[in-house]
Amino acid sequence: MLLLDGKKLSEEIKAEIKTQVEKRLLTGKSAPHLAAILVGNDGGSLTYVGHKVKACEQVGFRSTLLHFQENITQDALLKEIERLNADNTVHGFIVQLPLPAHIDATRVLLHIHPSKDVDGFHPVNVGRITLGMPGFVSATPLGITRLLERYAIQTAGKHCVIIGRSNIVGRPLSILLSSQSATGNATVTLCHSRTQNLASITRQADILIAALGKPEFLTANMVKEGAVVIDVGTTRVPDPSAKTGWRLKGDVKFDEVAPKCSAITPVPGGVGPMTVVSLLLNTLQAAQQADP
Ligand code: NAP
Repeated sequence: MLLLDGKKLSEEIKAEIKTQVEKRLLTGKSAPHLAAILVGNDGGSLTYVGHKVKACEQVGFRSTLLHFQENITQDALLKEIERLNADNTVHGFIVQLPLPAHIDATRVLLHIHPSKDVDGFHPVNVGRITLGMPGFVSATPLGITRLLERYAIQTAGKHCVIIGRSNIVGRPLSILLSSQSATGNATVTLCHSRTQNLASITRQADILIAALGKPEFLTANMVKEGAVVIDVGTTRVPDPSAKTGWRLKGDVKFDEVAPKCSAITPVPGGVGPMTVVSLLLNTLQAAQQADP
């Protein structure tokens, strides 16, 4: 069984990005600049944004964190987005989700200019990717396809089963894996909470992707011998022995599933680091488009 080490691979890709940044600087271009908007003090969001800012520092990007109080008005937030859209020194920016209930997340998302939407959530980017046109691919699906590519896991002709149809993971991944591309050409089945006989479908998967957010949901009896398993889930479960009082659990019951697999991602250290590095790749792409 091969452990798909997203942490190690993400470090390799960061080194490659750093080289690209150095090349930009040598030719008089600016360092890619990522801005992140964070509203409130949600523990998970603070951690995720922290990882993104740190990753920017590691590769020589500029980063700006705009941290607003929980009670910021929707209008004020939209003005900040307009300001970032117009700021030529910012190549890309993200709005960390979730947003407080009084803010319409869709409205916020639609306000981001597609050329700076490095999360790849704007309908223009989703549409472009769906049609096989250049655009920003959302970070987690991009990270997963990079992971498969770098580990030389063939997708062409394979049956990929994805559990979870969210707009940020399952659905865009189903589009990428079924597209006519080097990391596509798979036959994709997209499962969700209304899928019947889920285990009979997952047992047919050559590549099985669990992205439903239910800790240890995927058990050995749901997996074919020799399958590749990608675990996207990251749920905080209470753990009194951990310093934080919690630890991250994936959607896969790793200990019993791993022995059946040809390859599997761990949690943590699998898809998570690949997601962060994909945001960096998108920001580099945004900078190159703005200043080729
Ligand atoms: P989400 O928006 O909560 O969607 C969950 C999906 O799973 C839905 O499509 C839902 O079906 C489906 N589902 C729920 N229970 C199911 C069941 N019993 N059987 C089959 N399908 C079921 O999820 P998300 O935002 O994509 O996140 C999924 C997980 O990935 C979470 O743990 C999240 O923290 C993690 N995540 C990790 C990263 C990373 O970088 N590692 C990035 C993003 C997300 P319905 O559509 O029918 O409700």
